[in-house]
Amino acid sequence: MTASALFGTYARADLDFVRGEGVWLETSDGRRYLDCGSGIAVNALGHSHPHLVNALKAQAEKLWHVSNLYKMEGQETLGRRLVEATFADRVFFTNSGAEAMEACFKTARRYHYVNGHPERIDIITFEGAFHGRTIATIAAGGQAKYLEGFGPKAPGFLQVPAGDLDALKAVIGPTTAALCIEPVQGEGGIREIPVEFLRKLREICDQEGILLIFDEIQTGVGRTGKLFAHEWTGVSPDLMGVAKGIGGGFPMGCCLATAAASAGMVPGTHGTTFGGNPLAMAVGNAVLDVILEPGFLEEVQRKSLLFKQQLAAVIDAHPGVLQEIRGRGLMLGLKCVRPNTDVLVKLRANGLLAVPAGDNVLRILPPLTISDEEIGEAVARIEAAAKAVEADLAAAAAGA
Ligand SMILES: *Cc1c(COP(=O)(O)O)cnc(C)c1O
Repeated sequence: MTASALFGTYARADLDFVRGEGVWLETSDGRRYLDCGSGIAVNALGHSHPHLVNALKAQAEKLWHVSNLYKMEGQETLGRRLVEATFADRVFFTNSGAEAMEACFKTARRYHYVNGHPERIDIITFEGAFHGRTIATIAAGGQAKYLEGFGPKAPGFLQVPAGDLDALKAVIGPTTAALCIEPVQGEGGIREIPVEFLRKLREICDQEGILLIFDEIQTGVGRTGKLFAHEWTGVSPDLMGVAKGIGGGFPMGCCLATAAASAGMVPGTHGTTFGGNPLAMAVGNAVLDVILEPGFLEEVQRKSLLFKQQLAAVIDAHPGVLQEIRGRGLMLGLKCVRPNTDVLVKLRANGLLAVPAGDNVLRILPPLTISDEEIGEAVARIEAAAKAVEADLAAAAAGA
């Protein structure tokens, strides 16, 4: 075997998938895996969804790229649809989640700049947050393990403990531009932010004349059973970052904004070469065709309940391995008693893929199109993995 030419930034599993269909992935040697990770909440409609494949093929034969120097019908259409379906009045398309968050941060600072407050630059975020891996978004996330070795933390990002209103009020001041939060922390371990806390954030923002930013990169596009997770709370942001599921596997994202929040973003203030390109827009529109179909999101909610009920029974039967099922829609977190990485290895051995997260949680993020039968199959494989962990523990105890 030759050494990899790639950066060593990932400790990759030795699995080489060559095709996928629906919730199933297949390796080059023909092993099949039930995909409950969806490429980290990206393949919202599973693999090789015919409507997405057709949209991408049809666009590929017409036009790939022209740049944002020109008007693009696909952007106008997808932009209008997102505005009609959300709090937003304006959309900026990006290629990734981190770029979507950077667009949110720039738009928030620019809002205060054009309103006569250039000193308002600070974005306040919450511990356990994840907002991306660029220089600005690692500062926003504030996690030491992502900041280490990359020079000074970008200025203008402050962090307070999640849920701590007093700590928050203590840091809000004349240089504050915005508060930024994930309605459900993804990387942090599927931790739902209480509705009451989000309501308070909205109140504080309105009182202080600062902006509220939601990072719905992982929670958005149907993942929690609503188009966006904040719809469960009745609290709307001024700015929102979206990515992951919106492209169904094609790299894209966007920043959604109210008219007031985005008023400072005039020609020349921001840009991107690839963001909103015709291929991405064709797929993004196709994803929305399916997700916005009447009844689709209700189905996600129904399947969530089914999945959670069946998992609760597995947890009850294996309390030495698994502790709790949390989350909303098909953004589920399986809190482990044993190290989550040990459970993950056994899940893989039983042909199921999940994604580790903070707080010793395994994320269960299947395609939203998963069937009831496939949910049953996933639960059976999770139970088999729990039994395998127990068997290892018993063997170790016997050997000791
Ligand atoms: C994945 C993620 C990001 C970063 O998105 P990239 O496309 O990897 O840049 C930001 N915020 C949240 C909540 C995410 O889950």
